[in-house]
Amino acid sequence: MSDITKRVEELMKLPQSLCNGCGKCCYAIFRGGMLYEEVLALATRLPVNEEEAKMTEGAKDFLTVFEPYETTEVMKKYNEEFVTKTLEHFGKKENEVTYFKCRYLDSQNHCTIHEDRPNFCRMYPIPSPRTYFNPGCGYKEQAEKNWAEIQSIIDRLNDLENKGRLSDEGAGNGNH
Ligand code: SF4
Ligand code: SF4
Repeated sequence: MSDITKRVEELMKLPQSLCNGCGKCCYAIFRGGMLYEEVLALATRLPVNEEEAKMTEGAKDFLTVFEPYETTEVMKKYNEEFVTKTLEHFGKKENEVTYFKCRYLDSQNHCTIHEDRPNFCRMYPIPSPRTYFNPGCGYKEQAEKNWAEIQSIIDRLNDLENKGRLSDEGAGNGNH
């Protein structure tokens, strides 16, 4: 593994110690900007190929962990910004997205299935400009720093690739 790949892998992993246990991310969930009925239809359909089967399993897993809020207003009480950003991101109207919360968060905001929590919980949050950080999330600052370094690595690689392409073109021109 090259030093660059190793460094990017390091930067993608944020230390768990940054989580302050506020539980906000477990209250603010959506499934691809879909309505509950759409997720349910996905989870209960008969898949016709492997790709569909994966999506169906994913939707089933999702619904075993998360339950829908009855209305968007309830979600807004927890985090109105999350609703606004989600609608902006998917270009949808308020009645076109259902929000969910986790069934396994206790009243002290502790995950009651921490050792067995799903992969999507283990992976959250990934440093990326597309990741949403709840207000006060302990990961935000470090994630932004890590992303800035990842972005500068990508820029440098692109730069090197462009220079390589230019010199190849230059060599090609010289031969004609
Ligand atoms: S399973 Fe645990 S970590 Fe995942 S959303 Fe629920 S409470 Fe949060
Ligand atoms: S919002 Fe951030 S700090 Fe709060 S529980 Fe989730 S990951 Fe941890």
